[in-house]
Order: sequence, then structure tokens, then C-alpha cells
Amino acid sequence: MAQVIYLDGKYVSKEDAKVSVFDHGFLYGDGIFEGIRIYSGNIFKCKEHLDRLYDSAKSIMLEIPLSYAEMQAALIETVRRNELQDGYIRLVVSRGPGDLGLDPRRSPVASVLIIVEQLAIYSEEAYVNGLKTVSVSTRRNVPDALNPKIKSLNYLNNILVKIQANLAGVGEAIMLNSQGYVAEGSSDNIFIIKRGVVYTPPCYCGALEGITRAAIIEICERVGYKVKEEPFTLHDVYVADEVFFTGTAAEVIAVREVDARTIGEGKAGPITTHLLKEFRSIVSVDGEQVYK
Ligand code: PMP
Repeated sequence: MAQVIYLDGKYVSKEDAKVSVFDHGFLYGDGIFEGIRIYSGNIFKCKEHLDRLYDSAKSIMLEIPLSYAEMQAALIETVRRNELQDGYIRLVVSRGPGDLGLDPRRSPVASVLIIVEQLAIYSEEAYVNGLKTVSVSTRRNVPDALNPKIKSLNYLNNILVKIQANLAGVGEAIMLNSQGYVAEGSSDNIFIIKRGVVYTPPCYCGALEGITRAAIIEICERVGYKVKEEPFTLHDVYVADEVFFTGTAAEVIAVREVDARTIGEGKAGPITTHLLKEFRSIVSVDGEQVYK
């Protein structure tokens, strides 16, 4: 079945899904986005993703031309038209077409597009054996420049981290903030476990307020693991019993090695494995059902 893309109120083919070269998302990274998963016809944490999208929009004074309800309806309809049960949704709102100047007043109408695709970034083997990763020299954007809480189209900070990960031959890397505390991965949040306690950096350390991160904190509280949101350093990562990343695409993926230090037993540890199992038990029920 041919892919159907939502573009500014219309459902078009992949070939017809074109945006202007004057679009400020393209020219300046001026816009915002969300990556969302669909599990068994359920748009996982749909409300949380839309809340983050509208918060990002408010922060950068971008007026989304769809109401919250219209946006949710467009998400559901795009998934339905693609007849997908499981997949990934990329929702993008750019400042829209303008001129070559950066003034957003010249882009009066934001552009909205929704792409739905199949997705599997890691093999099941990776979830069991964990990832090799390195720390990189690229530091997280500081909140008084481009605040990491804004899920903006300007992902150069993260792309520079990804380039360093690629050069090191690993799939994901650990990024510190400008004070030397661990912030997050290139596009995932990070957790460490020490003596049964689960730690993740607070968002003021440069972490995006990840939807998966919040889901994992909630699960920990429900199943009885103590969670602490507090700053930690690379040393704490090296000596952790378990380390894992969370993200919409990655879900909950263990780390087996950081900067040539083996983490725990060198594979997904018991708490990480438990959290992944609990996470996977809610993904097809917590959200918005597409095929009601
Ligand atoms: N940090 C960054 C920089 C991200 O881009 C993402 C999204 N992939 C995450 C963390 C994880 O957030 P979420 O769980 O909402 O996907």
C-alpha cells in the first residue's frame, strides 16, 4: 500500500509531499517536531506528545494552525489511511514558507506535516546484550541559548553527537552538559542503576523531558524501584550496576559498555529487563486507539 502523508490539511502521496525551499524549517531549523509510536493501533502517550508539541510551539511563539483536537484527529487519520498497526509517526510543524531573512513575521502560516512509517531501530538481540557506547566532547545546548526542553527542528547539537558516535563505531553516545554532568544521549534519555536505586539526570542538566523517560519513572514508582532525579557524572555511569537509554524509537535499551568500561555483567541487567517488560505491557493500551 502506498504511503500517505498529511501535508497542510491534505493527504498526499510521498511523491506529492513537497515543501517550499523558502520554508524556514529548512532554511533555519525554525520549527518543532514530535516522534511518536503506534503499537497495535494505539498512538502511545498521544496526549503527552501533543502537550510537549504545543508547549514547544508556545515557547518559540509559533502558532500551530490546528487546534489540539484537530491535530489529534489528523494524527489518527494519517495512521488509519496508512493502515498501520505498528509504526512511527513524525509530526513536524515548521514556521512555514517565508523569505530569505530570518524574521518569523515573514512566515505568517506554519506548515504541518505528518509522516507515518514502519520502524525497528534495534534488534531483539540488542535489547538483551545491550549497546556499546562512548562519551563525546560535544556538550549539550545550554538552557539560556537553545533550551533543550524545546523539541525544535534545530538538531545540530544532537547530530554532532551522532557524528562522534559514528566515528567511534557505536550507535549511541553520552553527552555531558557544560558543567560536566551527564545530560542525555544523542536522541535518548539516560538512566543508571546503583544498588537498586534508579537515577536519571534532572531536565535542568540538559535532558529533554522525554515521554519514555516519564513513563519509566512512573513504572519504577508503581513496581517499587526508588527513582532519583539528580545530577551525576561519567564516573557514576562507569561504576553503575546497569545503564540504559530511553526514547520513543529506542524504548528501553541497555548499555553494556561505556568508554571501554564494561557495565555490570556486560548485558541487560535484571532491573533494565524488568522495566522493558513493564514498558512493553503498557504501550498498546496507554494512548489513543486509531481503529475504534
Ligand atoms: N532526548 C532527545 C534529544 C530526543 O530527541 C529524544 C527523542 N528521541 C529523547 C531524548 C527521548 O524522548 P522521548 O522518550 O519523548 O522519545
